[in-house]
Amino acid sequence: MTASGSEVKGKCLCGAVKFEAHVKSQDIGACHCEMCRRWSSGPFLCVECAEPPQIEGVEDLSVYQSSDWGERCFCSKCGSTLFWRTRDGSHFMASAGALENSEGLRMTHEIFVDEKPDYYDFANETKKMTGAEVFAAFSSGADNN
Ligand SMILES: [Zn+2]
Ligand SMILES: [Zn+2]
Repeated sequence: MTASGSEVKGKCLCGAVKFEAHVKSQDIGACHCEMCRRWSSGPFLCVECAEPPQIEGVEDLSVYQSSDWGERCFCSKCGSTLFWRTRDGSHFMASAGALENSEGLRMTHEIFVDEKPDYYDFANETKKMTGAEVFAAFSSGADNN
């Protein structure tokens, strides 16, 4: 429980899946990796949860294992992108687009910038990391994508 964290609420487009989460901070990260872009039709903008969110309508939450260590969760009724999480539960990222209230949130970092296509750029001042830098930073247990 960090001082800068707070409680957030979110939901999918159709409302079948709702969640409440304690986020680590107000910082939004963007992932430009090919998998995130294929999954959400753009960079995945997300906020890190301090612990797994409380999910209502979990029977409508589908989980797709996209790598040896990552899983993607989405509404099986409307297809909304909701969470990316590590399979071991150590990291849980909630889609910024699913949040009810964006007040106070700010985009502070971008990852997998080496996989970003040329057709867009964010103007935000952010810390940028390549995929290799991300894997180095999270090298415990994350040895491939
Ligand atoms: Zn839905
Ligand atoms: Zn990604």
